Amino acid sequence: MRSTRRSAVLSSVLLLLTISVLGLGSGEHAGAAKLPLAGLTIVIDPGHNGGNATYPSTIARLVDAGGFLKACDTAGTVTLSGYPEHSFAWSLSLTLGADLKAAGAKVVLTRTNDHGVGPCIDERAAIGNRLHADLAISLHGDGGPPWGRGFEVIEPGISVSRRNDDRPILHHSYALGAALRDALQSVPQLVPSTYLGEHGVGLRTDLGGLNLSKVPKVLLEVCNLRNSADADLAQSPEWRQEVALALVDGIERYRGVVRSPTTTTVSPTTTTTGS
Ligand SMILES: [Zn+2]
Repeated sequence: MRSTRRSAVLSSVLLLLTISVLGLGSGEHAGAAKLPLAGLTIVIDPGHNGGNATYPSTIARLVDAGGFLKACDTAGTVTLSGYPEHSFAWSLSLTLGADLKAAGAKVVLTRTNDHGVGPCIDERAAIGNRLHADLAISLHGDGGPPWGRGFEVIEPGISVSRRNDDRPILHHSYALGAALRDALQSVPQLVPSTYLGEHGVGLRTDLGGLNLSKVPKVLLEVCNLRNSADADLAQSPEWRQEVALALVDGIERYRGVVRSPTTTTVSPTTTTTGS
C-alpha cells in the first residue's frame, strides 16, 4: 500500500512538473494556448447594411476612398428571388465570427446589426486600424452576370494613397488572399470565379475599404448572387457554415505563412500563381 501511495504521489508531482515546464498554468490559459487562432484579433466587415437602401442620400455621401472620393457605401445586390446581399453578408459574418472565436481569435464586426445604415467604407477600414487588428476580411456576394459563378478574393493594389511603408501590409494581404483562395477550393459546389479575376483572385485599387486599411485585408466576393445556382447555395445555412470553416482554415494557413521569415517576398497572388 505504502509503495503504491508513494508512486501515486510521485506521479502527481511529475504531472505538475510537466504542466509547469509546458507553461500550462491556469486552466483558461491552458485552453487558449492550444487553440490555433489564440492571440489574433480579426475584423469581419459584413458588406453593406440592411438600412442603406432606405437612406440613399446618406450612403451617397462622398468619403475618402484612398486618395479620391467615393460614395459612403451602396445597398448591395440582391438575388433574382429577392434575397439581399446584406443579409447574406450578415449571416455569413455571424457564422464565421462564431467559428473564429471557437478557434481562439478575438473577433470584431464593423457593424452590429443588419437593419442600420453604414458605416461608410472609410470607417469600416478605420475600425480595423484602430484595433491594430491582425487581419480584416470583408464579406460580400457579387452582382455579376447571370451566367457567371464562383468566388473572387480581392486583394489591395498600390493605390494613390499608399506609401512605401504600407508595403508589408500589402504583402501580408497577398499572403492572406492566397491562403483564403486555397482554402475555399474545399467548399462544396463553390468554384473560383468564372468571370472575375484570375484563378479566384483579383487586385483592385478602387475599393476604399482596402485602400485605407493599415492592416492586412482582403474583400471576398463569396459567390455571384445573380447566378441562380450560387444564389441557392448562399441561402443555405449549411453551405454558409462550409464557407466559414474554409475561411477559418485559410486564416490558420495564413498565420503559418506570416510566421515564416519569407513573408516579405510574397507578391500579388494574381501574378505569381499558375494554379
Ligand atoms: Zn457588396
